[in-house]
Amino acid sequence: MSAPYEATAAWAQARDAADPLRTFRDEFLIPPHAGGDSHYFCGNSLGLQPRAVRDALNAELDYWGELGVEGHFKGRLPWMDYHEFVRDHLAEVVGAQPGEVVAMNTLGVNLHLMMVSFYRPTPDRHAILIEAGAFPTDRYAVESQIRYHGFSPKLSLIELESDEPNGTLSLQAIERALAEHGSRIALVMLPGVQYRTGQAFDLKAITELAHQYGCTVGFDLAHAVGNLPLQLHDSGADFAIWCSYKYLNGGPGAVGGAFVHARHAHATLPRFAGWWGHDKHTRFQMGPEFVPTPGADGWQLSNPPILALVPLRISLELFHRAGMSRLREKSLQLTGYLEWLVQNQLPDLLQIVTPAETARRGAQLSIRVLGGREQGRALFDYLVEDGIIGDWREPDVIRISPAPLYNRFADCLAFATAVRRWKDQA
Ligand SMILES: *Cc1c(COP(=O)(O)O)cnc(C)c1O
Repeated sequence: MSAPYEATAAWAQARDAADPLRTFRDEFLIPPHAGGDSHYFCGNSLGLQPRAVRDALNAELDYWGELGVEGHFKGRLPWMDYHEFVRDHLAEVVGAQPGEVVAMNTLGVNLHLMMVSFYRPTPDRHAILIEAGAFPTDRYAVESQIRYHGFSPKLSLIELESDEPNGTLSLQAIERALAEHGSRIALVMLPGVQYRTGQAFDLKAITELAHQYGCTVGFDLAHAVGNLPLQLHDSGADFAIWCSYKYLNGGPGAVGGAFVHARHAHATLPRFAGWWGHDKHTRFQMGPEFVPTPGADGWQLSNPPILALVPLRISLELFHRAGMSRLREKSLQLTGYLEWLVQNQLPDLLQIVTPAETARRGAQLSIRVLGGREQGRALFDYLVEDGIIGDWREPDVIRISPAPLYNRFADCLAFATAVRRWKDQA
């Protein structure tokens, strides 16, 4: 098969003009650079602001100003049930039943709340399996939970070492770890997409394996939500958590999310409770006995932060209109183009760490600078100066993530052109 891509501005512009999702870019504020738009590849870290957010925020401020406490019951979207206004679209994005998801808190908080219910160590089964090199929060959280239950991370934290060349992990390695340690593993806690390598995991295959060994399964979807079409319900995972400021464009420090599988909707699991998790029909009787609302809602503690939910609600409407399968289709093309450019135009400078199989990655390519740390840092700084915004991971990796809601083929070409220019002028 001949290469479907070309490294010319005419080709990239033609592809952008033919993109059925091209108008979604106009829904976002693209950070400016040198009189034009920057080339923003950092949706894996902080997604861009949908234009409609400002008016929507102002509308809530107006309700507050005009209605005071009555805003809980009046206005277009009464605050009382505000978290429910993001529920259906959130469920769509993660492939869950509406009752299985809730927008609340932040990722780290939700991870702890979920572990309170789903990490129930016993003397025989007390270990947690994570990947080596996990994101700090995840490692700190599981380690502190292990200690909290009186166990020792030395014996109860199993960190799965990479068994593939670029720091990625095969399903076979996970299978081997389960075969060896499965009977003492209480919880398998893995990412949907690994933040450093960009590797995507097969949630369903992992869940099926881990369940065979009697382990509970949770996923951290920080880099997967809004990036890959997920089928969380069908995966069978017990729970999942995520943040919403990355691909979901929920804004800095956005309200995170949690998934609790329907099989646990009525379970009497131990949990840390608050009034907003109480059965919503009797919540305002203010009784002393906690009766959880069925489903993920039952894990809520507090009444939702309305102003913080506004950007998420607006952004999820865009996801609903675009649809995860169309976004994935475009994402495959965009990231495929970026990969092709790196491999064909820049093989002397850059090497892709992220798996080549499209089923094992999302939008992000983690790209190693072959010249080492100093060269890498110099290149990264040059790119930022040039309005090309990726992010840097020590010691020598630049992460570039074309987000299909707002990135263009022309952005990918601009990245490759700038790297070549940097080399030529050095
Ligand atoms: C971004 C990210 C976090 C951040 O956690 P917060 O609680 O939202 O600050 C945690 N874990 C992973 C894997 C992440 O990618």
